[in-house]
This record gives sequence, structure tokens and C-alpha cells, in this order.
Amino acid sequence: PQLINQIAAGEVVERPASVVKELVENSLDAGATRIEIDIERGGIKRIQVRDNGVGIGREQLALALSRHATSKIASLSDLESVATMGFRGEALPSIASVARLEIVSRTADEPHGWRLASDGSEQAGAPAPAAHAPGTTVEVHDLFFNVPARRKFLRTEKTELGHVEQLLRRMALARGEVAWRLQHNGRTVFDLPAGAAGKDDWATAGVGRLRALLGEGFVAHGLTLDEQAVDLRLHGWIAQPAFARSQGDMQFFYVNRRLVRDKLVTHAVRQAYQDVLHHGRHPAYVLFLELPSWQVDVNVHPAKQEVRFREGRQTHDFLFRALHRRLAAGVEPMLSV
Ligand code: ADP
Ligand code: MG
Repeated sequence: PQLINQIAAGEVVERPASVVKELVENSLDAGATRIEIDIERGGIKRIQVRDNGVGIGREQLALALSRHATSKIASLSDLESVATMGFRGEALPSIASVARLEIVSRTADEPHGWRLASDGSEQAGAPAPAAHAPGTTVEVHDLFFNVPARRKFLRTEKTELGHVEQLLRRMALARGEVAWRLQHNGRTVFDLPAGAAGKDDWATAGVGRLRALLGEGFVAHGLTLDEQAVDLRLHGWIAQPAFARSQGDMQFFYVNRRLVRDKLVTHAVRQAYQDVLHHGRHPAYVLFLELPSWQVDVNVHPAKQEVRFREGRQTHDFLFRALHRRLAAGVEPMLSV
């Protein structure tokens, strides 16, 4: 079973950023409004994610690290479906099989929390009482300490930190209603208060958050955008391309709140920039497209951030027109909006 866990971990856990992704997604699933990520040496030595979500009760905690793998992966075809769909409900056991892991959690109706630890071997002991505010802290130490073949593929501390930062940037831009803090080697990388609640509270990252995550250049060159057509809406921020550090660096496109990378989108954006600014390279944007869920198929490949638009032509034209109109309307500094 431990070997199966490690095989599964191969799908889920590639590097520190993948651990952070799984833990932070769990925090969001738990309804957290504040998430603190604390990592050391790019996350290779230590990753800690602390949230104020609903917490895990004692009984559930006792099961959190055990996978019912022998029954779940019974045949080759099961393994194949796992490889394409990803593992569900198996992130924690997978992480626990390739690192030392500790969870401390408390639900709101318990007088204290419970702690469960495992050291990469078969099973953790029983949960023991521990002090904790309502919410959950997961700590992952020494990633791949027991899988040298995978440890070899980890890059420098700086590169791994870069992956973690980019991941959290993507998440924090779309989750303005959540407060986020990232610390690395004891130093604060960013500390973002929750945005004001409102109709679009999830997108109200606000100028302060944009500045902290994308830099002053983005804000100084940025425009707000909000365009609507029947049941499509595109809103967010676009900026002139001049300052972008490298391709892909500052391109964040969300469809119904999910980050996607899509050729149709890239093409529409480039064309609008090209048309208006005569310069289609390295556009910088944080954009949210909202459309009825029947118009988009998100299950093309869950791990690859791909989507398929059912009305591709129309979606493309809407994006192009919306961006074109906004770019052509000229520069109004974001700060004044
Ligand atoms: P999945 O998220 O696919 O259910 P995981 O292995 O990531 O699988 O987590 C297993 C379960 O542990 C979750 O379904 C959830 O019930 C609980 N859990 C994990 N992390 C948290 C957290 N931060 N807060 C509350 N519950 C959590
Ligand atoms: Mg999960």
C-alpha cells in the first residue's frame, strides 16, 4: 500500500508548489477566510499551511491519511483512469507517503484540537489532543526524504519558491475575499488583507493586491475593464505590455473563476492588442470571463487548465471586441478608477 501511495504521489506531488496547491485547495474547500503559508528553503525543507476553516473532527482526522487504495486501484484500467482524472480524496495520503506530515485541526464546537503525525511510513498513530484555534494547520517536512529518485528533480530553492509564488498569485487574484500571507524563510513575501465584500467580492482583489502580486508597473499601466453582452461578462484589469517580465508571467485568465490557458483566449487578446497598440506581444492582464456553464466544458483535462467553449467563435469575438473597445478608449490610470 505504501508503494501505491508513492505511485499516486507521483501524480499529485511533483514539487513543493504541488503540495501547497493541494493544501490551499483544502483550506478553500473548508471555507477559510484567512490562509497563511509558511515555507522554508523553497518548501523543500518545510511547508506549513494554516487556515481558519471549518476544521477536521477527531474521527475524520483519524482517517485523513489512510487511503483505501487496495480497493480503489484494483485493476490497470483503474490506474489509467486515475492517471487522467487525478486522485480525488487522496492528496493527503499521497503527500504523507513522500514526506513527514503533521495535521493539527479543530472544529468550532470542540474545546481543543487534535493532532495527527506521520513520518512517511505506513500509518500514523491515533489523534492526540492539541491546542489550536478553530481551523487547520498542515505541516509538511522534508519533501521526498524517502524517495531519492524524486528528490533529484527538485530545483534550487529560488526556483521552487518561484513556483509557489506563481501558484499563490493565481489563487489570490481570483480570491479577493480571502486574506493571504506567504512567508519564506521567516520573511514575509506578501500579506494581503481580504477585499471588501460586495457583489463581486471574489474578484475585488483591489489595487493593493494587484500591486503586491504583480508590481507597481502593472498598476501604473493598468486599466479596469467591465464589458457585458447578453449572458457573457468580461471584467478585470488589462495593462500595456511594455513592462511584463516574460511571456506568460502576467497573463491570468479565469473562466467562471477557474484559471485557464486557452488558445482561443490568447488569440483574441493578442489580436486586440495588436489592433489597438500595434504591439501584440506580452500583453498583461487579469481577466475574469463569466458565462453560463453550458457554454463551457471544463473537463477536457482537469490538470491542464484547458477548457472548450461550445460557442467558440462567439466567445472569441466577444473577447476581442470587449478588449478592443477598452484599449481604444484610452488610458485612464487605474488608481483614479
Ligand atoms: P479531497 O480534498 O479530494 O477530499 P484530501 O486528501 O485533500 O482529499 O483531503 C481529505 C479530506 O480531509 C477532505 O475532504 C476534508 O474533509 C479534510 N480536510 C483536508 N484538509 C482540510 C482543511 N484544511 N480543513 C478542513 N478539512 C480538511
Ligand atoms: Mg484536497
